[in-house]
Amino acid sequence: MQALSVKCRLIVIAVFGTALTTHLYAGASQSPSAVSQKEAGQLEIEINPLIAGFTAEELQAAVDEAYAKYKDLNEGKNADYIPILTETPSNLFAVVIATPDGQLFTAGDIDYKFSIQSVSKPFTAALIMTQKNPEAVQEKIGVEPTGLPFNSKMALELYEARSVNPLVNAGAIASVSMVDASDEDRRWAKVLQNLNDFAGADLQVLDKVFKSEYDTSWSNRAIANLLYNYGRLYCQPEEALRVYTKQCSVGVSTKDLGIMGATLANDGINPITGKRVMPAEHVPELLAIMATAGFYDESGEWMTTAGLPAKTGVGGGIVAVAPEKFAIAAFSPRLNEAGNSIKAMKAIRHISGELGLGVFGANPALNTEEE
Ligand code: GLN
Repeated sequence: MQALSVKCRLIVIAVFGTALTTHLYAGASQSPSAVSQKEAGQLEIEINPLIAGFTAEELQAAVDEAYAKYKDLNEGKNADYIPILTETPSNLFAVVIATPDGQLFTAGDIDYKFSIQSVSKPFTAALIMTQKNPEAVQEKIGVEPTGLPFNSKMALELYEARSVNPLVNAGAIASVSMVDASDEDRRWAKVLQNLNDFAGADLQVLDKVFKSEYDTSWSNRAIANLLYNYGRLYCQPEEALRVYTKQCSVGVSTKDLGIMGATLANDGINPITGKRVMPAEHVPELLAIMATAGFYDESGEWMTTAGLPAKTGVGGGIVAVAPEKFAIAAFSPRLNEAGNSIKAMKAIRHISGELGLGVFGANPALNTEEE
């Protein structure tokens, strides 16, 4: 009889480790001769630590490829309605895959801190879902996509829900007003703590961004006042506006965004701290809102071409979630007309297509032919 060498492929979750292929010798055998012809009782087992079906090398290659493909693209321009955002160097670009076990696959300016802006919105919606329940979001804010820009006042008049969904400005201002808190300081402390919990980091407000936006917040102030007028704001308008604007001014790196997304990919548990940040059963409801409204009036195009729930911000950040797999975050300041980062969008869409991540099935054709 010939020696039996059993090769098994095991999926291993490597906590904080880099991926590697390991050979282990296990103390089980299926045949006496296997024992006699190898060293006693040793079978060769190849452990291949796949991450959601991919090797570490495949994930790094997807990130590198997306980065290289769009690095030199110079379309679009920085947001300028928040004056200080014009000062962010326009060529910055970063791409990150963050896994539920805390591994990061990265390229580019991954540590640069930029303002989170609207990427903060789903995370505060998560806080409301956690403090109350998703029904409260449906009843007191709404969950319908507007098909209109993020700062639309017309949406408030068109839809009886007024705030419409937590990912447009009106709904996000309503979200902070719903946080259980007896005063503004406590309200802000809870909003910031929640973002910190998602990121597994001590995030800081970028004061200059806050001042620049708050000093010019006439449009959002109008929205807050309209909501209050309609009985759809749950604290004083100026308090909600200040807390919302601070939330949008929080500085994050692309790595931070990746971990925030990975917390959602990990059913609400932060991969770095191990802390449960939101109940697992509410993650699908949040991802559904991101899928239908995360890109405002471009949400349909995004879902059709990338197939992933995601959220953008005018600071240039985007985080996308491949549910139960991992998160992809990207950052680049130049935006298109809808206020979405062109390079970040393309990079994430490319990775989604290459790896076949779309939640309704892979959508590679649109992904590869678009340029
Ligand atoms: N703070 C920004 C605003 O309220 C957020 C908008 C965005 O990122 N789309 O206008």
